[in-house]
Amino acid sequence: MVTELAIDLDAIAANWRDLRARHGGPTAAVVKADAYGLGAAAVAPRLHAAGCRQFCVAHPAEGAPLRPLLPDSEIIVFNGLWPGEAGFYVQHRLLPALGSLAEIAAWQAEAAREGRRLPAVLHVDTGMNRLGLDPGEVARLATEPERLDGIALRYVMTHLVSAECPEERLNNVQLDRFAAACARLPPAPRSIANSSGLFLGPGFRSNLARPGAALYGVNPTPGRPHPLRVPLRLRAQVLRVREVGAGESVGYNATWVARRPSRIATISVGYADGYHRALSGNGLACFDGEPVPLVGRVSMDLTTFDVTEQPAIGVGDWLELLGPAMPPDRVAARAGTNGYEILTALGRRYHRVYRPL
Ligand SMILES: *Cc1c(COP(=O)(O)O)cnc(C)c1O
Repeated sequence: MVTELAIDLDAIAANWRDLRARHGGPTAAVVKADAYGLGAAAVAPRLHAAGCRQFCVAHPAEGAPLRPLLPDSEIIVFNGLWPGEAGFYVQHRLLPALGSLAEIAAWQAEAAREGRRLPAVLHVDTGMNRLGLDPGEVARLATEPERLDGIALRYVMTHLVSAECPEERLNNVQLDRFAAACARLPPAPRSIANSSGLFLGPGFRSNLARPGAALYGVNPTPGRPHPLRVPLRLRAQVLRVREVGAGESVGYNATWVARRPSRIATISVGYADGYHRALSGNGLACFDGEPVPLVGRVSMDLTTFDVTEQPAIGVGDWLELLGPAMPPDRVAARAGTNGYEILTALGRRYHRVYRPL
């Protein structure tokens, strides 16, 4: 194997315990998008062993395969109740985050068909303007509470717009809007914070925190020291080292030209592996704690590094592309994106292994 994505499940569990202690109350694990690329089928059972009993996904089809692995846990589907799929949610005991009067009506109808109350989450929009009940819908529920008959409200949740920006006024505006909405709805446990929301202070505490990214190595406090572990390491072996003369170019479109006789190391990783093409001419790997500059274009299956300054690097040596020494946020900054996209783009061709780093 010339690439290896090592994932440390114990470090993910340690991150979850840290976040739960910080929250001081029940804490879910968000495992949508295959646990942000790290493998929900491995991550979720490990977090269950650590004591987690609430898991969140975005799509119903992400929840269904987790059900047999987590028989006694709540599995919440953030993206709501999808048209025509209520039976699927019931079959796999998924909790839809109901975000409109239409979804509430469909879940109520499903409960009537089943002849029992069905559990669900209510999603209140407080500023995102994507999914969730708008203020008019909350008002309707307040005056027509029978719309919730047959639905067992497990949580009322909202989602923060800018939790990673502690100075952002909207954070507190959302808290106020959420409190006002909850006052009009039947009493139920509340759920507010994502990863960064857990670092905003006691006002953002709720009955269920919902961290995702911070479990997997994204810094929930950008611009401040990373408070948790980076639980993955992506490495690639050098396939070939090429001596390139001054004036010679490397890679597609000759975007990099050697100014001096250079040594170019090529690895079997490219944008088809989710290694962003935007890193062309701007990426960094790490070898023995030393930075190694990416040169030329990232191509579909290969990427090139200038190892002139590291004569020790040869064929078979491992360059670290992502890991504790090269955290997702650092790579993201160079690619013009965020750590979330770096993780969720991690390719299917990497050889994944679950072990301590
Ligand atoms: C993705 C998501 C989360 C987790 O957010 P992180 O920033 O990854 O911690 C929480 N709640 C909702 C509704 C989400 O969609």
